[in-house]
Amino acid sequence: MADDQYKARMQRKKEHIDNRIEEANIDKGIIVLLTGNGKGKSSSSLGMVCRALGYDMKVGIAKFLKGVQDTGEDAFLAKQPNVQTAFMKTGFTWDTQDKAYDTAMAVETWSKAQSYLEDKSIDLVVLDELTYMISYKYLDEQQILDALNNRPKDQHVVITGRAAADSLIEIADTVSEVKDIKHAFRANIKAQKGVDL
Ligand code: ATP
Ligand code: MG
Repeated sequence: MADDQYKARMQRKKEHIDNRIEEANIDKGIIVLLTGNGKGKSSSSLGMVCRALGYDMKVGIAKFLKGVQDTGEDAFLAKQPNVQTAFMKTGFTWDTQDKAYDTAMAVETWSKAQSYLEDKSIDLVVLDELTYMISYKYLDEQQILDALNNRPKDQHVVITGRAAADSLIEIADTVSEVKDIKHAFRANIKAQKGVDL
């Protein structure tokens, strides 16, 4: 392509992008939903936590279905003065195999998550693996939607987990599906520090 043609094309592209940026002038708390079967949902939510902490924002993290193993981010987050955490004290449901116990733990973790969603001083709330709480009926779907709808208007929320309910997709502003193309685990590589935990 000739140089002048290329320049004209880039100029049109820049005009288009500048117009779109100008049109996007609404400032509000948004809900980001990260779903799908591929790796990268929880770690992406931690990327947002990193961004928020860089601006001295306050963060509340509720981890549902926390694995039995402690992770690198647990150690990191424990050292952050601007981070509050609520971890469900149970492994995955196939570890505990006790629905009544899992439900009680889910309700307890949700009550902390709900307090974050009512707290104007918290700028970002992470609801890690929340999708399963709805699909396994550990928590009341409507109660979750109400808490999300009634949260402070500038508060951002990120929800992760596979197979998100339609209601979560509807309430979210940004939804990404991480597609599983390949995972090291299937080549018998065990979970690696700094990558998987
Ligand atoms: P991560 O925490 O690494 O961002 P994730 O939140 O997208 O992963 P989860 O479904 O919550 O994925 O699973 C958490 C753990 O399982 C991580 O150790 C991750 O590497 C692993 N994992 C994620 N997806 C897959 C997959 N498709 N096959 C095998 N293991 C997976
Ligand atoms: Mg996850």
